[in-house]
Amino acid sequence: MTKKDDDNPLEEIQKQLHDLLNNKNVQVAFAPFMESMKAKDGGEKVEKEVKESKPPPPEDATRDERLDTIRSFDRRPKEIRDYLDRFVIKQEQAKRVLSVAVCDHYNHVRRCLENEKLAKNEYVKPNVLLLGPTGVGKTFLMRNVAKLIGVPFIKADATKFSETGYVGYDVEDIVRDLVKSADGDVELAEFGIVYVDEIDKIASESSKTGKDVSGRGVQINLLKLMEETEVNLHAPQDMMGQMKSFMDMQKGNKPKKSTVSTRNILFIVSGAFDQLGENIRKRLDLNRIGFGSAEENISSSESANRFLSQAETRDFIDYGFEPEFIGRLPVRVSCEELNKDDLAQILNSSEGNVLEQYKNDFSGYDISIEIGEDAIEKIAEKAAEEKTGARGLVTILEKTFRDFKFELPSTAIRDFSVSANTVENPGEELEILLEERRDELDDSLLEDVDRYAEQFRKECGYILKFRKVAKTAIVKESIAEGRSVRAICERKFSDFIHGLGIINQRTGKKEFVIDKKVVDDPDKELSQWVVESFGKSKDS
Ligand code: ADP
Repeated sequence: MTKKDDDNPLEEIQKQLHDLLNNKNVQVAFAPFMESMKAKDGGEKVEKEVKESKPPPPEDATRDERLDTIRSFDRRPKEIRDYLDRFVIKQEQAKRVLSVAVCDHYNHVRRCLENEKLAKNEYVKPNVLLLGPTGVGKTFLMRNVAKLIGVPFIKADATKFSETGYVGYDVEDIVRDLVKSADGDVELAEFGIVYVDEIDKIASESSKTGKDVSGRGVQINLLKLMEETEVNLHAPQDMMGQMKSFMDMQKGNKPKKSTVSTRNILFIVSGAFDQLGENIRKRLDLNRIGFGSAEENISSSESANRFLSQAETRDFIDYGFEPEFIGRLPVRVSCEELNKDDLAQILNSSEGNVLEQYKNDFSGYDISIEIGEDAIEKIAEKAAEEKTGARGLVTILEKTFRDFKFELPSTAIRDFSVSANTVENPGEELEILLEERRDELDDSLLEDVDRYAEQFRKECGYILKFRKVAKTAIVKESIAEGRSVRAICERKFSDFIHGLGIINQRTGKKEFVIDKKVVDDPDKELSQWVVESFGKSKDS
């Protein structure tokens, strides 16, 4: 046995640790351990990179950068879902289905651009039919998807379309509007997303009787867009647009593309389909009764909306849709209603939710608000009663804060808290707040007079020295008239810049004392000062 072998291995480790603490080079001995630690770190990082979604393209991205992002689309459905989770509460199914449809579509677009042969193959575009009541996030989902992947987005109401286009809005106008939303860039628009709402309103009731109604015509026109067609950049009645293109050509400018291909445009159509849920409920009810399973009977009190998720193609045809139209909408998914708890969750955790907007509005006046949990509950409860989904939140917040927004910016109040009672009785709570802070309020109004004097000095170089009694008189007037101190001062001293200028020329005087007399009758006092100044000169 060598001397070395005899050595105690623990002693060796202790020595190395000692060296390490003394900064000696012990990398060799610790290398395997360090490497394994590094690998672990690295491994976690890789996993994290896969999980974290790339942010949307920046607002100021150039059109080429945008086009590059679209052409090299490499997002995964989970990544899109995770992004949507930050903004949209609930609607799990819709998020999953939309994420897959969007990835499938833009992957296909990318692959066709890479390989022209693929583009010639038959392709069923994953256009989406989105069902669900108003205000539950249907549009919001799609807007956020479009933002994340950086494609232009446009929304229109199907009720606005007319069949022929000579009155009202032609379905093709929506593609032209998409180009506008892409700042006139046809190439970008050709990768965009078109969202048509209220599609249930163009179901033609009489389709069963074979009678044509305008709804049917609109469906056929939309159908053409959803498949693949070329839309003229300028509507036939858009004479200005037509002439501009003609003149461009005359000037020898390179002819711009004058049509928009809808081949790669993804279509989302949506609607509340109020009656459809009820129809499906009846169908399911009948089937179940047919099978004699009495316990499975569905209570009529259950919301018909939840049956939308069980809609089948024939339900849509019975509802008044052309089979070909429904056939072009292979992806169908319904959004759920939002209950009180969901609405509270929106306020608590949805990024950029409407409450944050209200907080921002107040912070524009340096006012911060503290919202109690009871207030959130109350807002959500009252919003749910509105039965307009998350839109109810705006209605309730507006009612709650309307008067606060009007009154507080002109006071010294720079923070306040909101309770359930504020939501219930905003007027009462506002009065209490104003009363409680009255002293603070007056102090700040007195300071407003100083602020006015400072601004006056900056503008014309003359110093107005307000006596305390003068300031109090101004504040009193401001409270009595319900106008700001600045407005009162500006009205009273509007002629002072000119008048003091004359005095200054004659006497060199720059500082002027404002006492109560001046506040009570500023014009009279000013004239007297001017007259007096004629008796004096700079030298006297
Ligand atoms: P619709 O379902 O009628 O298309 P929207 O998507 O336009 O409703 O919703 C209106 C607004 O309400 C959105 O802009 C968003 O601020 C809010 N909102 C609606 N649903 C949700 C939701 N599920 N999560 C978070 N916010 C929502």
